[in-house]
Amino acid sequence: MSAVGTQTERLAAMIQDAGSVVALTGAGISVPSGIPDFRTPGTGLWANVDPIEVAHIDVFRRDPERFWRFYGDRFQTLEHRQPNAAHRALARLEAAGLLDAVITQNIDRLHDKAGTHELIEIHGTIGHSSCPVCGSRYVLPDVRGRRNRDPAGIPRCDCGAPLKPDVVLFGELLPADALARAEDLAAGADLLLCIGSSLEVYPVAQLPATTLAGGGSIAVITLGATPYDSRAAIRCGGDVVAELTGVTAALGLG
Ligand code: ZN
Repeated sequence: MSAVGTQTERLAAMIQDAGSVVALTGAGISVPSGIPDFRTPGTGLWANVDPIEVAHIDVFRRDPERFWRFYGDRFQTLEHRQPNAAHRALARLEAAGLLDAVITQNIDRLHDKAGTHELIEIHGTIGHSSCPVCGSRYVLPDVRGRRNRDPAGIPRCDCGAPLKPDVVLFGELLPADALARAEDLAAGADLLLCIGSSLEVYPVAQLPATTLAGGGSIAVITLGATPYDSRAAIRCGGDVVAELTGVTAALGLG
């Protein structure tokens, strides 16, 4: 690999040279899988509803029927989506021993489907739902079946209580263990790959600063500006699929 190359080749070289590489991903990595970023106005499922108003823990508690009418559609939209080449590139880097973990804001399970093992889902996952009363956990196909069989469209636990998706709803705290893990990984990373995230929302907004404070570098691979652009060792504004598949190709990983 030449010392002077394209941004993508430079990024590949940095990944190869770093002792610890961690990826941090946001909605942008799932856009090529057909999942719109809900912060983009007027797109997708969120166009006609205010998610902050409906996907709220208070709505779940007060009116589970209304909550599930909205969230059930969201589940259906996400359930059959497939990972794209960017998700697969990260799984490939991990398999090659070049990536320690993926921290994601996404709840869509696509990193998991792509084969990433060390995965920290700081906003939870649609992969399962739990009973707030007895703690029983149900996987997604079972939750869907229960929802379809319930006259009010509410998936219910065997104990009768409405199930809650294991995603972080508005008004809920982030899972402390996942958050602590993400902070540890960011602190210990020689290189943090920030992919498809505007890096504006806590806690993701803080993780690149944690890496920089620990003496590591950050690479920002996302469309649009982020607060970290001036501090990034590498800044790619291109398409996440093109960038990450370019990196794996440069590393000879196919
Ligand atoms: Zn229960």
